Amino acid sequence: MSHSFHSVIALAEILERRWQNYRSHGEFDLFVEFTVSLNGLTERLRRRQMPGLVRACQELENAALALFGDPSLHPVPIDQANGIERRFAQLLAELRRQERPSAPARRLSDAAGPLADEAPARPRHIRIVAPAQHAWVASLQAQLAFFGFTIEISGWEARPPAVTPPLAILFVPERPGGAYPPAAVSHIMALRTCFPTSNFYCLAVPENLQSIVLLQRAGADACIPADSGISDILSRLLDLVRQDEPEADRVLIVEDSATATAHVRRSLAQHGIDSLAIDDPRKLLEAAAEYRPDAILMDMYMPFCSGVEATAALRQVATYQALPIIYLSSESDIVQQVEALRLGGDQFLTKPVNPVVLAAVVKTKIARYREMRHSGQHDSLTRLLNHSTAKMRIGQLVADSGPGGRLVVAMIDIDRFKRINDTYGHPAGDKVIRSLAWLLRGRLRNTDLIGRYGGEEFIVALPDTDIAGALEQFERIREDFAVLPHPHPEGPLYATFSCGLADLADFPSATDLIGAADAALLAAKRQGRNRVLAAAPDWTLSLVAGMQMEETTGS
Ligand code: GH3
Ligand code: MG
Ligand code: MG
Ligand code: MG
Repeated sequence: MSHSFHSVIALAEILERRWQNYRSHGEFDLFVEFTVSLNGLTERLRRRQMPGLVRACQELENAALALFGDPSLHPVPIDQANGIERRFAQLLAELRRQERPSAPARRLSDAAGPLADEAPARPRHIRIVAPAQHAWVASLQAQLAFFGFTIEISGWEARPPAVTPPLAILFVPERPGGAYPPAAVSHIMALRTCFPTSNFYCLAVPENLQSIVLLQRAGADACIPADSGISDILSRLLDLVRQDEPEADRVLIVEDSATATAHVRRSLAQHGIDSLAIDDPRKLLEAAAEYRPDAILMDMYMPFCSGVEATAALRQVATYQALPIIYLSSESDIVQQVEALRLGGDQFLTKPVNPVVLAAVVKTKIARYREMRHSGQHDSLTRLLNHSTAKMRIGQLVADSGPGGRLVVAMIDIDRFKRINDTYGHPAGDKVIRSLAWLLRGRLRNTDLIGRYGGEEFIVALPDTDIAGALEQFERIREDFAVLPHPHPEGPLYATFSCGLADLADFPSATDLIGAADAALLAAKRQGRNRVLAAAPDWTLSLVAGMQMEETTGS
């Protein structure tokens, strides 16, 4: 576990003290404080993608919320308090167990290469739990291994061993598409308890609500239907690997009352949400540009202009057109509220806002907004960054890398792709594009940037890497891609790619860097394709421009 897991434990220990405090004094306020900070813990675990622990924490939170009652009912009866305490002790014990440094069970396959071995943020270990006789388990295993995962297969009956929690558990039923028998369900529950931090996928689940609900209750994070292929599973696993711990949610509060601001900020902080407050709407545009909030909490009545007017002004700026805006007001007039929403707000909350409701509303709005932003920045076929976002991010990487900062950019283009499309059809071509995207995602590090630059063209940026390291890495990927069979009704087809590399040390601007990688790609194509070439340090930009010109006039 990375050292930031200690902060999760530290938070849990604060909670423990809060609970003890409640037990000794029995005051309602202390109970509220405990419950609210439980939500902060859930949020931390969610951000670290520990679904089983998130679930346990949420259940505890719901149990506590159910005891809120009215203040005079506190302290709650001893048996109920003991119930909460028992669940909390279990959670805490589980957190501590996860914290213990684990033996290095992670052993990447040789194929994963030296770069992938350096610093993957999450281990890429997958546990397949299946009855031994399945033929397609072997093919699933082979495919996952090819894309950079290590696999362990175990039967249903085997007792879950005490090993490092895998990234994901894939549970395969005896009869794909048939109902999961009770024995399977109880085995799932045992595994879930044993690996609360792993992502748990049940495969070949029959598409009926009953089965899905049962499996969810047993602890499945996702139920994958019988008719989905290995590619669906692969795509999900790759998503898990590349999801970095997202930044904390950021909320900008626009509110002229210092008391209201303090109350709101405290509620947000307890739920793990960062905030910045301004007391004058005239500072709004400046603050938004600087703080880049994920949502705004807007007071309705302020000096200079109303919250509705400030919202309308903000919406004039293209960047903020979809930014969630939540009004805070003591206004309970329905007509006013509807009018305010019509004029650009997303939600209306009445002050004083219940802290639990406030946090829930803010988080839901932010989650939707982030999803939307994500789809605007990613390509739908490959889920890689799209052209403009990749280019912009590389610009940022270059700008952020100080003197002596290391960065290599790679341009990749599939060879004779038109021929693949013409011979096998466009859908087959799409599959080839997707496989290359997966191979890159599976083999490169989480810190590497991968984008789909155009149709069958990709761009990659490798920080902290030199040309020699990048050459080695892409040579390996090139060789493996060339032998990767792409299934097709008429028999498997094969494809190759060419790749050009350029080093920031030789081409010290984003434009030159991309231009040089492009020129190296062109040279690789000219030399016969299916090869990786680096732009020589003494290539001047006029030479690069000359090569491009020659290509366009020459062909
Ligand atoms: P080269 O080795 O020189 O790169 O040859 P090529 O045939 O790959 O190069 P060219 O750029 O002429 O052809 C690229 C083709 O890719 C043209 C276009 O029809 C096809 N293409 C672009 N986007 C997609 C896509 O999303 N899916 C599929 N199936 N084909 C695409
Ligand atoms: Mg006000
Ligand atoms: Mg091509
Ligand atoms: Mg091309």
